[in-house]
Amino acid sequence: MKPISLTILGSTGSIGVNTLDVLARHRERFSVFALTAYRQVEKLAEQCAQFKPRYAVVADETAAQALVHHLQDTKTNTEVLFGEQALSDVAAAAETDAVMAAIVGAAGLLPALAAAKAGKTIYLANKETLVMAGALFMQTVRDNGAKLLPVDSEHNAIFQVLPPDYCGDMAKAGIDSFILTASGGPFLHADMQQFEKITPAQAIRHPNWSMGQKISVDSATMMNKGLELIEAHWLFHAPPEQLEVVIHPQSVIHSMVRYRDGSILAQMGVPDMRTPIAYCLGLPERIESGVAKLDLASIGALTFNRPDFKRFPCLHLAYQALQSGGAASCVLNAANEVAVSAFLAKRIRYTDIAALVSHCLHNHGSAAADSVDELLHLDEQVRATAAVWVRNHRRILRG
Ligand code: NAD
Ligand code: MG
Repeated sequence: MKPISLTILGSTGSIGVNTLDVLARHRERFSVFALTAYRQVEKLAEQCAQFKPRYAVVADETAAQALVHHLQDTKTNTEVLFGEQALSDVAAAAETDAVMAAIVGAAGLLPALAAAKAGKTIYLANKETLVMAGALFMQTVRDNGAKLLPVDSEHNAIFQVLPPDYCGDMAKAGIDSFILTASGGPFLHADMQQFEKITPAQAIRHPNWSMGQKISVDSATMMNKGLELIEAHWLFHAPPEQLEVVIHPQSVIHSMVRYRDGSILAQMGVPDMRTPIAYCLGLPERIESGVAKLDLASIGALTFNRPDFKRFPCLHLAYQALQSGGAASCVLNAANEVAVSAFLAKRIRYTDIAALVSHCLHNHGSAAADSVDELLHLDEQVRATAAVWVRNHRRILRG
């Protein structure tokens, strides 16, 4: 069997590292065409030494020079590229068969779109692609015969328990709804009076999953589940009223499909992203992932609750954005990215995240944007509005 030539966008991140971990167990099945990172050149150099990609891509010339320097002592012929365009180039290159899209945030959109345009197999971890530009991205996938496999654990779980011939028609497939599970994050039972004092260190300490900082904060606010509702809407062609969220603190069931006949099919496992990654990489085979066996008896009980919108206002905002349609979810995403990075930089409080997103939805929520240029322009406008809000709010906080 010819090895699959793989590009990993965001290889130094949490998903990127887990992908390489799975890949290292199956070296005969894959060759690495390109690895990309923003500025973590040392880690990227180590990955290049081990996986010998044809190309490595970083953010800018300074990072590229540093990477070349680090690569000097290794015996790799990896060529170093830099800049945004290079990300799209390696994602769309004729020599690559498949792309792991694992850049965090809006920066992941253009390279994922480039892979779709080039008709690649796309393992999609970057949820922001579908949140910002779901209609456009799905259309591009269809028009160019690209193959889209969801990496996000909830969507991967649903994908695993869907009828194999599911074509987006829920009624025809006998599906009543999709049920996304959520752990509830670190503040599920915390005193809401104390939410204003939550620190970044507390917010990124997820009880079950080990992930990048941005998605960890999103999990604490449950914006992550909101983004995932929007992702599910586009991936499975599900209207908002047929998407449910249930809190399941053990993170054993990764999501479910509720069928018309009363059956609910669930996918379970230890919370470890190597399972959905291995599922995508191995399809149609099930391959070894290195994930520990789930010991149900030692877990004992699985519990479920309804989410509380007062505790998790970001989830409510995401539902609203999804219901409004149009470009509201692009606005939601941009505002949230600014809010999370301002919170991580200790410029705003935890409770300001929802307030800022709500402010931006109020100001830009009904904007229209269809093309990629219009969406990127809107994204920029929202970031500008959000930056002003952060500045003003900071002044009020200090004043
Ligand atoms: P991370 O922060 O750990 O890694 C992000 C990667 O993207 C790094 O390699 C970084 O160098 C690169 N990057 C960051 N900014 C960039 C930019 N402007 N241009 C180019 N590259 C850039 O993030 P992560 O947790 O691995 O998440 C990646 C994506 O996968 C996110 O969209 C996240 O929502 C999604 N996701 C992650 C998990 C998880 O368990 N970590 C689960 C489901 C979905
Ligand atoms: Mg998820």
